[in-house]
Amino acid sequence: MARVLFINGGSEGHLNPTVGVVQELISRGEEVVYFCIEAFRERMEQTGATVRTFDDQKLIKAFISGGREHVLQRINGLLLTADIVIPDVLEQIQGNRFDYIIHDSMFGCGRLLAQILKIPAISSCTSFAQTQASFDDMLNAFYSNVPAEIAKPIHDQYESLAKSVKEKYGADVRSPYEAFCNPAPLTIVYTTREFQPDGEAFDRTYKFVGPSISSRHAPGSFDFSAIHGKHPIYISLGTVFNRAAHFYKLCFEAFGNTDHTIVLSIGNKVQLSELGEVPDNFIVQSYVPQTEVLKFAKLFITHGGMNSTHEGLYYGAPLLVIPQSADQPLIARQVAELGAGLELQMHSLTAHQLREAADLVLSQSSYKNAAERMSDSFRQSGGYRQAVDEIFEWTRGSSISG
Ligand code: UDP
Repeated sequence: MARVLFINGGSEGHLNPTVGVVQELISRGEEVVYFCIEAFRERMEQTGATVRTFDDQKLIKAFISGGREHVLQRINGLLLTADIVIPDVLEQIQGNRFDYIIHDSMFGCGRLLAQILKIPAISSCTSFAQTQASFDDMLNAFYSNVPAEIAKPIHDQYESLAKSVKEKYGADVRSPYEAFCNPAPLTIVYTTREFQPDGEAFDRTYKFVGPSISSRHAPGSFDFSAIHGKHPIYISLGTVFNRAAHFYKLCFEAFGNTDHTIVLSIGNKVQLSELGEVPDNFIVQSYVPQTEVLKFAKLFITHGGMNSTHEGLYYGAPLLVIPQSADQPLIARQVAELGAGLELQMHSLTAHQLREAADLVLSQSSYKNAAERMSDSFRQSGGYRQAVDEIFEWTRGSSISG
């Protein structure tokens, strides 16, 4: 039995795929101490892990204070979280010994903590993985396209943050790539090589284990009898980019009073009262047990978050993807290329377009067939069990033992 330190951040999308991994690690005898924000304590405690938390407000404030417009600003934001995360983690684990660390590939300063603690590290990548070459292209585009008077202060802040991390914690930030992608000797990516853009570009230290979907504790309740015997259309913009009252009303206009049963998750940033009259064929909740509802869905209208996309395809639902930000445009493109759905643009979307796109995807079997093919390949890939197989093979190879 080994003792595992798991470092995650504050977002549901980065946490959900790790639920099955942690459960599986524990069922195979590992002991896991898991860091996340307080909101996910219960979900992670149900896995059997010992949960420790960071201050979510301080974490988010530090991250956002780096700026959001340019990639190097987001990197600065991540480095700014070091002073929130590192002293807190070190204090809370004082006197404990860990055999290895698993850290999120983005949040939680995992690579820095691995250096400070001098323990072997595994990266947990819940989005598409990125090679250093493709990351450098993105960074070079920032330096070439952004005027020097804007780029230089951002660059200078990066240099000074990297220096300060070295001085305070003795840990190296050798490149913006390291700060952003937290590379490690083993990276678990929760998708398949087939779905990962340029999948063959990744070496054998990247293990594409497929979507990690497991039953998980969900807050709130949902009346499944309301969708019993029906195949609903499920609509959600995820947990981050969901302040979209206009879009939810557009969904009412597109599908209200039709024969479709619609389940709509509106998140916690919009109040139901802001949306006016809810059509009778809609079930609207701030949070929906998504993976359970997707088992019955005939169509998933999604923002194209990595988890939502995986979950929809895993259950064989064709998708209408309306990307909002981050990696979602790339994911939308992959879905469209695989023929498992269509991409729509939020800024110009009309109720008529939404309805027509839904009718098209529902009436042409090719979309459902492609979604079923993805479902098969996702199910064959092994998910969290494969992730733990890979972790154990790697720890054996690295002579890590409890
Ligand atoms: N989710 C859920 N119920 C909801 C909304 C979201 O269970 O009402 C879950 C969803 O199953 C997924 C995660 O929240 O696992 C959202 O992650 P994703 O990567 O799709 O998007 P993000 O929220 O990070 O934009």
